[in-house]
Amino acid sequence: MIKFFVVFLCLFFLSNNLIANAKTTIKGDIIAGGIILVNTFPGASARLDGNDILVSDQGIFIIGFQRDPNPIQVLEIIHENKLKDKIILNVTKRTYNIQRINGIEKEKVDPPKSFLDRIYLERKSVKESRNKAILIEKLFYNNGFNVPAIGPISGVYGSQRILNGKAKSPHYGIDIALPEGDRVFAPMDGIVLFTHNDLYFSGGTIIIGHGQGLTTSYLHLSDISVKNNDLVKRGDLIGNVGSTGRATGPHLHWGAELNGKRLDPQYLKVFQK
Ligand SMILES: [Zn+2]
Repeated sequence: MIKFFVVFLCLFFLSNNLIANAKTTIKGDIIAGGIILVNTFPGASARLDGNDILVSDQGIFIIGFQRDPNPIQVLEIIHENKLKDKIILNVTKRTYNIQRINGIEKEKVDPPKSFLDRIYLERKSVKESRNKAILIEKLFYNNGFNVPAIGPISGVYGSQRILNGKAKSPHYGIDIALPEGDRVFAPMDGIVLFTHNDLYFSGGTIIIGHGQGLTTSYLHLSDISVKNNDLVKRGDLIGNVGSTGRATGPHLHWGAELNGKRLDPQYLKVFQK
C-alpha cells in the first residue's frame, strides 16, 4: 500500500512538473480543414511529424489540417537543442456532403482542348504566386480577423462536387451568395500576392498572403480594387462580388490555404481579437 502511494506521489509531482515546464499553448480547432495558432518559447523551433515548421523569433506559428488529414500528428518543440514539448494532436475527422450543381456552362465543366494551355498557365501562375506566401515573415494574421462578406452560405468546405452530373474535385472554400457588386473586404491584414480579372474557372481572383505561408483567396469577382504587392488592412475594400469564371450566379468563393494544405476559412476565426 505504501509503495503504491509513493508511486502515486511520484507520478503526481512528475505530472505537475511537466505542466509547470510546459510553455506551449494552442488556440483553435484541431479538426479537418482547421488551423491552430501555437505560442511557445521565443527562439524555439518546431517539427510536425518530423518536418520543420516556420516559427517566428517570438515562438509563434500556425498549423493547418487538410480535408482528410492524418488523425494523429506529433508536434515537437525544440529549444536550446533540447526537446521541450511533445504534443499529440488528435485531429477530429469530418464527413462531407455531396453537392450537385446543374446548369453550368458546358465548357466550364469540360474545357475544350483549345483552352487547356490557358488553364495550365493560369494554374501555374496561381501556384507560383501562392508559393511566395512563405516568404512573408511578418505575422499579419496576428492583427485580428473579420469575415470578408456577410450573406447566406450557398456552398461549404469539403463537399464532393457533381457538376452537370460529373464527379469533380471537392469544394475547397465557402460560397457566400450575394448580389452582383456587393463589396468584399480583407478579413485580415496582408500583402496582395495575385490578382487577375478573368481566370478560366475562378474569374476575377485575388490572393492575399497573411504570414508564414497562410493565404486566402477571393473568386468570381466582378471588380478588383487592389493590385499585386499592395499592403491591405483588415476591413479594406478589395473587390466586388460577381459571377465571373465557373459560376451559376453571383457569389463570393472564399478559400484559405497553408503551404499546400487547403483549409476551411471558417476556422480563421482563431485569429479574431
Ligand atoms: Zn465555391
